[in-house]
Amino acid sequence: MDHPLTSLADNHLAREALSRAEVLYTDLDGTLLGRGGSILTDLRGEPSLTAAEAVAAINRAGLPVVIVSARTACMLKEIARMLAWQDYLAEMGAVRVYGRGAEIVYDLGEWEDRLTSDGERPHDVIEDSGVIAALMEAFPGKLEYHSPHHADREVTHLLRGLVDDTAAQAVLDTSPLPLTWLDNGMVNPRSTGLDWVEHVHAYHVMPRGVDKASAIAADLFRRDLTREQAVMVGDSLADLTVHETVGLTVLVANALRSDTVRERAACIETVVVTDGAAGEGWAELAYAWLAAREER
Ligand SMILES: [Mg+2]
Repeated sequence: MDHPLTSLADNHLAREALSRAEVLYTDLDGTLLGRGGSILTDLRGEPSLTAAEAVAAINRAGLPVVIVSARTACMLKEIARMLAWQDYLAEMGAVRVYGRGAEIVYDLGEWEDRLTSDGERPHDVIEDSGVIAALMEAFPGKLEYHSPHHADREVTHLLRGLVDDTAAQAVLDTSPLPLTWLDNGMVNPRSTGLDWVEHVHAYHVMPRGVDKASAIAADLFRRDLTREQAVMVGDSLADLTVHETVGLTVLVANALRSDTVRERAACIETVVVTDGAAGEGWAELAYAWLAAREER
């Protein structure tokens, strides 16, 4: 049954969950980062130190933060270095990286046996199957690679445009490879070669079974932690889907701009929402986590 969305502030269940938390999983874009993917701007594009100071406070307390992102391991390595973090789950959870690359683990869902011994990457297996070309043909002028973020990918393909999700999945289902189509929400690319579309969405083509939740579950197992000891913070439907894998899911306020996210969040009891958008919301959560640990 639906319930009104709960604010993170002054919520005793959230405070209890935070007092137990030993690890924070965080999305980046629209969550920790502001406009243009910067930690030093807010969502409006105004300079702000709020998120960076909160990261420093969490780091000072020695609390682990793990990035969970659609971005590539290459990109996350540099971001993790700048934020002084060690571990990240890249490409929607397909690539788990520890110690900024000291150890790399692939979580390939139904593709477990497809990482070939000669090192052929699932990304190239998908390309070679012709299914991406089939998608482009099925939606002429409505779909293109999400440049420059589509480069250097090891497992998933990243596209952008505006197409019907069911029709796109139907194209993937014509491939002998088990593949999933995922709409990762609206993006604001600087330029596109698309015919006019009202809103540009980012889309992932992934091995079936790859998702952020599976990667977090595998990471918790490795850390010898339980679901109750984990918190996720994010801004999209993909972030919300991890709710059964963590004790508390925190949405930054801008997540509720999406009707789909708002409706879905209202059905889940372990979801709370920050007052602030993006980095300001992230900072609210960071200080609430620190305060809850002080009290325990
Ligand atoms: Mg995001």
